[in-house]
Amino acid sequence: MADLKIYNSLTRKKDVFTPITPGHLGMYVCGPTVYSDVHLGNCRTFISFDIIYRYFLYLGYKVRYVRNITDAGHLEGDRDEGDDKFSKKARLEQLEPMEIVQKYTLGFHKVMELFNNLPPTIEPTATGHISEQIEMVKHILKNGYAYEVDGTVYFDVEKYNKEKPYGILTNRKLEELLEGTRELGGQDEKKGRLDFALWIKAKPEHLMQWPSPWGMGFPGWHIECSAMSGKYLGTQFDIHGGGMDLAATHHTNEIAQSEACYNVSPARYWIHTNMLTVNGARMSKSAGNGFLPGELFTGDHPLLEKAYSPMTVRFFMLQTHYRSTLDFSNEALQAAEKGLKRLWEAYQNLKQLSSQQLPDTPADAALDVRVRELVKGFDDSMNDDFNTAKVLANMFELTPVINSLRGGQIPPGSISRSTFAFLNKQFTVYLKDVFGLREDSAGDNGRLEGVLQLLIQIRKEARAKRDFVTSDKIRNELNEQGIILKDEKDGNVSWSFG
Ligand code: AMP
Ligand code: ZN
Repeated sequence: MADLKIYNSLTRKKDVFTPITPGHLGMYVCGPTVYSDVHLGNCRTFISFDIIYRYFLYLGYKVRYVRNITDAGHLEGDRDEGDDKFSKKARLEQLEPMEIVQKYTLGFHKVMELFNNLPPTIEPTATGHISEQIEMVKHILKNGYAYEVDGTVYFDVEKYNKEKPYGILTNRKLEELLEGTRELGGQDEKKGRLDFALWIKAKPEHLMQWPSPWGMGFPGWHIECSAMSGKYLGTQFDIHGGGMDLAATHHTNEIAQSEACYNVSPARYWIHTNMLTVNGARMSKSAGNGFLPGELFTGDHPLLEKAYSPMTVRFFMLQTHYRSTLDFSNEALQAAEKGLKRLWEAYQNLKQLSSQQLPDTPADAALDVRVRELVKGFDDSMNDDFNTAKVLANMFELTPVINSLRGGQIPPGSISRSTFAFLNKQFTVYLKDVFGLREDSAGDNGRLEGVLQLLIQIRKEARAKRDFVTSDKIRNELNEQGIILKDEKDGNVSWSFG
């Protein structure tokens, strides 16, 4: 099998992927914080990892894909003190924090399904793993990399950095990182400016709190991912992923926690996806420039010229490599809509061509070689750091060839039977399984129309032969399915939903 190269943020280069256990992949991706709807930027990250997951499945790996749900511990502004995002929203909506969590988890799943993202194999929640997080904090304390102040436990970054480079993931020295932080004030409990909370003491009015060796409290945001990835994938696993915005703090702290607890770096490959931007600015909940997927599907947003289907949006994202920024625009989405339609047309033509008899030796050897190269290029591009954009470029080069074979402009037999089989298989597998595209309802409606016209034709022929048993059967059984056939005066037959 050809090498798969992955750009590894940890080494800052493309590394050949070698799994810890041959044939198996352990992958952890930071999931959503479920206190509000996911916006399209979040979706880009989850779609990018869905493609990576699907590609490993295509390669035959047995994958354990863990993507968590953050339902506790994530504080306002990603800080160590203040209200958590769930409690704040719960007060605002007059609900229990767990009702907030339930509402937005269900919404998240619905959006993932609309985009045809496969569910992860494990989807653990922070609240379901409080004891694992407490155990980890105890361990880090015992190893001497944390300290407790009045019920809150902090990670001691400077002490850790004496032994291991804290800024390893983003290649920054401690001094540089310190420059970017504010001086500690007299009332601060932390010893060092970069120290972060592993466990946070809860005020009595705090809605979500649990008992711990340090009193009532709740976990810091970073420890949940370390505890859950360790539990389900082992202390060291293959791939850890998330959006680029998480590398500098959340992921940097995850590495420090795992090293301080188990003396091992958690993941061998770190994959970071780039941001979806709107007019050049990162789409984010706090900036208020986020489209909700629902707004896209209805077109109900001032920045949207029309509605776009989930598959158009998914395809729009696949046209750009996951490590490049992607700027939202109506023009790009409209172009994606047309492009995707062209691919499905080529796909339908391929299916029509499958029944033809082809020779072992192609009539046009040069074309045959070219088609093979383009199809082989699908895997080559994905093996080069999951370059979906390049795969699509090859598919678009193949599209006119497929259409011309179907239309007769290229004579049948120009390519060999085996080349056609290779093209047919890979085009289908990539479109549906690797890229996870499915035909929109527009496509389904087109097919329904085709099937009904066929039935109407068969009924007409039956009537012409005075075979009223068959013609009545067609009409009555369609009727039972809620489809009404109407014989028009001009002899035509129309149909409608009853
Ligand atoms: P959150 O729910 O804010 O914790 O974010 C969930 C995931 O979405 C994280 O992996 C973020 O890095 C990612 N993310 C947030 N904003 C964007 C964006 N504008 N483009 C792409 N990914 C994003
Ligand atoms: Zn995380």
